[in-house]
Amino acid sequence: MIVNHQLCLRCGACVGSCPTNSIFLHETAFIEFLPTCTECGLCAVICPVGSINGLSESSSDSGYELIQEAGA
Ligand code: SF4
Ligand code: SF4
Repeated sequence: MIVNHQLCLRCGACVGSCPTNSIFLHETAFIEFLPTCTECGLCAVICPVGSINGLSESSSDSGYELIQEAGA
């Protein structure tokens, strides 16, 4: 998962949405995804400005489909 830090509002909604507590909002408001992330896509769905994207460098097209299913 990757975050567009220019769009991010630092609202913290993604942190609360993560079932595996894999999102860490640093005091500097930099968002970090921990290795425990299962790429379930919930945080990307919950983000009010769509600043979280599932297309990390290691992800394939199927990873993007997973996010779409989570939002359905
Ligand atoms: S994709 Fe899922 S497991 Fe990974 S950080 Fe987002 S909500 Fe947490
Ligand atoms: S839900 Fe979106 S806007 Fe809010 S802190 Fe997370 S990435 Fe930033």
